[in-house]
Amino acid sequence: MQNLFRQIPKIDKLIQKFEDYEKEIISKITKEVIDKVREDIKSGKVKEIDENSILRIIDFKYKDITSPSIKNVINATGVIIHTNLGRSLIDEEIFEKAKKISTHYCNLEYDLGKGKRGDRYHHTAKHLSFLFGSEDALIVNNNAAAVFLVLNTFAKNKEVIVSRGELVEIGGSFRVPEVMNASGAILKEVGTTNKTHKKDYLNAINQNTAMIMKVHKSNYTIEGFSEEVGFDEIIKMARENGLMDYYDLGSAYIPNLPYSLSSFEPSILDIMKHNPDLISFSGDKLFGGVQAGIILGKKEYIKKLKQNQILRMFRVDKITISLIEESAIAYIEKNYDKIPTLKMLFTSTDELKKRAENFLSLTPYLKAKIIDTFTYVGGGTMPNKKIPSIAVAFEGNAVKWEEKFRENLVIGRIENEKFLLDFRTIQADEIEKLAKITNELLSCKVNL
Ligand SMILES: *Cc1c(COP(=O)(O)O)cnc(C)c1O
Repeated sequence: MQNLFRQIPKIDKLIQKFEDYEKEIISKITKEVIDKVREDIKSGKVKEIDENSILRIIDFKYKDITSPSIKNVINATGVIIHTNLGRSLIDEEIFEKAKKISTHYCNLEYDLGKGKRGDRYHHTAKHLSFLFGSEDALIVNNNAAAVFLVLNTFAKNKEVIVSRGELVEIGGSFRVPEVMNASGAILKEVGTTNKTHKKDYLNAINQNTAMIMKVHKSNYTIEGFSEEVGFDEIIKMARENGLMDYYDLGSAYIPNLPYSLSSFEPSILDIMKHNPDLISFSGDKLFGGVQAGIILGKKEYIKKLKQNQILRMFRVDKITISLIEESAIAYIEKNYDKIPTLKMLFTSTDELKKRAENFLSLTPYLKAKIIDTFTYVGGGTMPNKKIPSIAVAFEGNAVKWEEKFRENLVIGRIENEKFLLDFRTIQADEIEKLAKITNELLSCKVNL
């Protein structure tokens, strides 16, 4: 053991091998690595000292700490709003505008007309209100924050009536009963899992009721013997009983969607025609913008939300404000090409086939064929609605292909024991890179 200790390379000598690296970091890492080697000798884990492997560990640790862990991946799963892969993409031109706003000073909270302090929320409110036909609008960090803020502002220690069929969990960290509990609102669940009637809501109303809330079921559907009360009916019941109505819509779309997706749920513009008190949804689901919670509704209620101290904790940054404004303007101008989420959804299968053919022409040695397949919108929107897509199906070991592509930051999917690259979500400018990765994997002669 003494012998092993003597073989440990001198720290100064090790550091000298990393001339181009930042001195302080490299010496800190080197000391840590050597301390670990000493410990491992003591505990008997290390039987011999190999200077090259020590150098490799130091190099790895340096690179690990000086490179970001968040990286771009190619989404070849076909799922457009993929929550694990970043949900919606932002259009490059829109992002350039937000970049300019955040790399220079801006009027974030400054009233240019009066020459004094202003309010950050009026920026997005004008465009969103115009777009959706609401009296006013407010944005917060995400839709979970929107739900919390609405409940905390209007229903703290008061009852909120929700159908048992709508007490959903979304992505594990958002569960309606728990968010409600945390906000201070008292959940009054009514009806059953599959059926909730108007009379269930009406029977639950008492002096302590503040609100009737509807929650979009998002990532699940009830089929068969089921019934729910529409939001228009809920608004009517609320009005007749002096209560507030609120709809946590989850996701919202504006133009008519392809593959008759629009026939399954109304567009937000139709919902807004009922003049709800408040409604909220995510900025990065079907709306196709940056992460945010968008709240729309009556001016008097939005005003109360702004007076709640908690809004300060959910407030959005100038970059989010700029991105949401630019997306809203794109919608106002019907410039749907600026919304990548919609663009992907609207791309024809003929176009996807052309891209797949282009990919195959760039990978002449690949044994694979183009197939018709189905994919999903994702993000908890329209969970059972298949949309047609085009994929390249690989011959050979699907599990290994999946793993090798994943190592190269390409996320595909396995279906019927074949590895698939689904072209619904592969961006046009990623095809050459994807072909290059494929060719490299083929030339590695790994047994695929
Ligand atoms: C997605 C979703 C949420 C959470 O929205 P985030 O923007 O992810 O915080 C809340 N409610 C419903 C109904 C949803 O679909």
